[in-house]
Amino acid sequence: MLSYQHLYHAGNPADVHKHALMAAMLDHMAAKPKKLSYIETHSGRGLYDLTAPEAVKTGEAAAGITRMQGLFRPDHPYIQMLERVRAAHGAHSYPGSPMVASHMLRTDDAMHLAELHPQEHDALRKVMKRRARIYRQDGFELAQSLCPPDPRRGLLLIDPSYEIKEDYARLPKFIATLHRKWNVGVIALWYPILISGAQAGMVRALRGENFPKALCHEVRFPPVRDGHRMIGSGMFVINAPFGLEDEAKMLSRLFQGMSGA
Ligand code: SAM
Repeated sequence: MLSYQHLYHAGNPADVHKHALMAAMLDHMAAKPKKLSYIETHSGRGLYDLTAPEAVKTGEAAAGITRMQGLFRPDHPYIQMLERVRAAHGAHSYPGSPMVASHMLRTDDAMHLAELHPQEHDALRKVMKRRARIYRQDGFELAQSLCPPDPRRGLLLIDPSYEIKEDYARLPKFIATLHRKWNVGVIALWYPILISGAQAGMVRALRGENFPKALCHEVRFPPVRDGHRMIGSGMFVINAPFGLEDEAKMLSRLFQGMSGA
């Protein structure tokens, strides 16, 4: 049974890192006239209310977007997207990755979103049904069945909740298989940096023989609350779009400045 609900964590520093990189990648990719596919294996509900009791209870957004928004340059694609979302949905709303993507893409780009949790799936359907194909299906299976997608240019985001610890072990092989089927696709995997270091073997395996040239970007931040085990955020990107390295450097500086390092 799935118990993870992203509403407790929406807008935290890891979301800021992940969504800022995504917005920058899609901004660059959508600047070229060719159509795109966007596929997401673990979509969440698409739109979050940061005044909801779940979000207030953890206060994670306060340490994330609320504190960090002003650190970005105002014309950054992530900030511009956030302002458009808040103009449409209210000042306390926060976009999940499907909504980040829909704001960066053109109307004729394809979107495929998987979400397995019944409540999250229903909420996602409400906000995204006019824009995307939404599947209540295992996201790993969906990605396998869609790749290579049509249109062939595009981005796949893999953002598991890592509730199932085997995810760390299975992801390198899964991603290598997808890349063989879709060698031009931009494949982005988000992962937490944990005090336990549980992610380290997976990152080593990904970097190792399979993808030595992939962009692997990590930022660190203090635990968002006492007892929290996440101390950073990582994004592993195969076929990273042009300019992403500079974007990653900018984010490194931004996160270092925030932690006073
Ligand atoms: N990508 C979202 C964002 O950035 O806004 C957050 C997604 S959250 C980290 C992970 C989501 O994956 C949860 O909503 C969970 O219900 C869902 N999930 C877990 N296992 C899944 C699976 N095998 N297939 C599809 N969805 C799954």
